[in-house]
Amino acid sequence: MRNKFLDGRSARDIDAQVAKILRGLGNPEPPLDLDAVRELLRLDRQYYSSTDDSAIREFVSRAVIAGKQVALRPMLVIDAIRKWDLKALYLPDRKRILIDESQHRLKWRWSEAHEVIHSVVPWHQTLMHGDTTHTLNPTCHAELEGEANYGAGRLLFLQGVFDEFARSSAVSFKLVQDAQKQFKNTITSCLWRVIETLEVPALGIVSQHPHYTDEEFDRTAPCRYFIRSRKFEEMFASFSEQDGFDILSSYCSWGKRGPLGKREIVLTDDRGEEHLFSFEPFHNGHELLTLVAYLKPNKVIVPVSGA
Ligand SMILES: [Zn+2]
Repeated sequence: MRNKFLDGRSARDIDAQVAKILRGLGNPEPPLDLDAVRELLRLDRQYYSSTDDSAIREFVSRAVIAGKQVALRPMLVIDAIRKWDLKALYLPDRKRILIDESQHRLKWRWSEAHEVIHSVVPWHQTLMHGDTTHTLNPTCHAELEGEANYGAGRLLFLQGVFDEFARSSAVSFKLVQDAQKQFKNTITSCLWRVIETLEVPALGIVSQHPHYTDEEFDRTAPCRYFIRSRKFEEMFASFSEQDGFDILSSYCSWGKRGPLGKREIVLTDDRGEEHLFSFEPFHNGHELLTLVAYLKPNKVIVPVSGA
């Protein structure tokens, strides 16, 4: 899956909503306290599990699912959760965020922030009546989901606070790890935010370990996430996730945890010019996260003639 930048206007509108929340909290220092966010917005949070749905049994007539508010009968909420394997949803008439407790605990924070954004973005509040099987089609709402994810990132990383943090030191995997310590978000979301914030060509790859792939590994789509900075997208449009994964396979170590070998690699941009990048793969015991950072143009030094 590739990251996709929002158009400027949607990003600005969502940033304005996030700024309002952060102002309401007195522009706090990281990490963001989601309890305070819920208190400010008068939101309630409950957990549900696919085996115990008591949290959603009470009467609910509206829900925000995949970014669209839908009118539902109570049982339909339970059906929708099962049918679309929802990890979280927002119930506007209860001002309640529901989070699936069966997903990994580390992901709860992201799910909650995602639903907070649904609750504050005005155009995610359009009430849709009628044919819920049609209106609930998640693929129709990829755009709204993208917006909620953008807002979740901006909220959990405190907008400008993170922008400054990311620019304050050299781009390396240590920056990603420091972000995790300071902002208390998952390492994957830290890698994602670092790449999207950078104004230079940069790439983030989240994949399986090339030397220990399992039966779920798909050679045609080897990366779970392929995150490109704007500049990378512009200059290296033809560089594919296979290219990135092949480079990692060619040299990374057989270690199962921690750094798997930093290396300088030359990549050729779409205009045929060479640039030097540093590849830094790190295995967190679960997945391989790789930071690809720009170093410099790879110019051949031609001796000055007549010297
Ligand atoms: Zn959503």
